[in-house]
This record gives sequence, C-alpha cells and structure tokens, in this order.
Amino acid sequence: MSKKIAIAIDGPAGAGKSTAARMAAEKLGIIYIDTGAMYRAVALDTIRKGIDTRDKEKVSQLVGEINVSIELTKAGQVIFLGNEDVKHLIRTPEVSIGSSNVAAVPEVRKRMVDIQRGIAAANSVVMDGRDIGTWVLPDADLKIFLTASVEERAKRRYSELIGKGNCTASIEEVEADIRYRDFNDTTREYAPLKAADDAKIIDSTGKTIDEVVQMILDEVNKINGLKVE
Ligand code: C5P
Repeated sequence: MSKKIAIAIDGPAGAGKSTAARMAAEKLGIIYIDTGAMYRAVALDTIRKGIDTRDKEKVSQLVGEINVSIELTKAGQVIFLGNEDVKHLIRTPEVSIGSSNVAAVPEVRKRMVDIQRGIAAANSVVMDGRDIGTWVLPDADLKIFLTASVEERAKRRYSELIGKGNCTASIEEVEADIRYRDFNDTTREYAPLKAADDAKIIDSTGKTIDEVVQMILDEVNKINGLKVE
C-alpha cells in the first residue's frame, strides 16, 4: 500500500472495536493504535497519586506532569507511564471507570490528541477510540462507528475478563460499568462519543468478529486506489 491512510473506528465500550481494529490493521499491514489505553494510563497515574479521578480541577493540574507515551513495536503498541510499561495494569474495573472520568477533562484530551495526531501524521493507522472520526482525525479516509446492544457488550467484556483469568466482577457489575461509561462518554461536553456524520455504522450484535472485520475491509476497498484481499 503506497498511499498513507487513516481509518477511524469509534464506538462504545465492548462493541469489539479493539479486536476488529487490530485484525483489520494486520490485514492491511499498517499499525493499530488503541487510544483508550492512553486515557487508562492517565487514570492509573491519577489513582496512584491518590487523586480522585472525578476531581476535574486536580486532574487538569496533574496532566502537565503525566508522561504517557506509546512505543510501536512489531508485537503492537506498548503504553508507557514514564519508563514503565503499564499494559498489564490498565484493564482493572477501577482503571476503566477512572479512564472515563479523566477523559472528560479537556486538558487531558488535548494532550492525548496531540500524541494521536502525531502518530497518524507519520504512519498509516487504524485508530480506535471515541472521538477519532469526529475530532482527532476528521479527514480520515474511512470512519467506522461500531456498536452493539449493551447486553451483548457486557456479555463479551465479561467473557474476555474471565478468559484473562482476572475477573472478580459479576456480569451485572460489568454491565453497570459499561452503562456508566456510555453515559459519561456520550454526555461529556468536550469531544463526546458520537458517530461522525460521514461514518459507516456497523452494529456488531449477533455478528462474529470475522464478519465485522470483513465489513470493515469491504469499506476499505471502496476507498479510491486501494485494494485489500
Ligand atoms: O476504549 P477503552 O474502553 O479502553 O477506553 C477507556 C475510556 O477512555 C473510555 O471509556 C473513554 O472514556 C475514554 N476514551 C475517550 N476517547 C478515546 C478513547 C477512549 O474518551 N478516543
């Protein structure tokens, strides 16, 4: 693929964005960026410093000191807080809720968006998040809004956590977490979660991940001058 491309995949928690985005990026031979991991790293740092993630004023003061960065490796994205690889520390329920809280703070978003745009300026990317098509990469070649019913999203997230062997929550708690984040993410004032006007909406309820990836690749094939098998 010679032309540099940007594919934005947005949607609510548990819709299958990260798996679909990773698989699509692999097929396309380009990099996958999980922007949620960056907000999660900010939440982890905030929690470690004993600051309430809902305290917008303190979080906005803290953000200047937080050193979140992404390293792109053959095995995928590695997320750092300073020199520490925090990939395995950012998937807890506490950090999930905290990430949605800190993500509502404009100063946090501005810093994360600068990093995200820098990566997309230098690389062909599939980037997933909440505001990629509406705000981070408004000129993306393709915008997908991936959604699914809240019940299905909770079921999937629960199985994923069980699969990783670190799930202490019940399925009801996982669903409550998703509903909390849906509400927070769609109602925040600054860069809320919503489909871009020119996004292709895909409802993944009842679909396999392979079907979703194929739908994304079909859309990629409609982009002028691109052909992906
Ligand atoms: O995608 P993930 O569930 O890991 O994201 C964690 C949280 O980070 C989301 O609930 C959302 O509040 C926030 N987020 C965001 N904008 C993005 C990516 C994630 O606000 N582009």
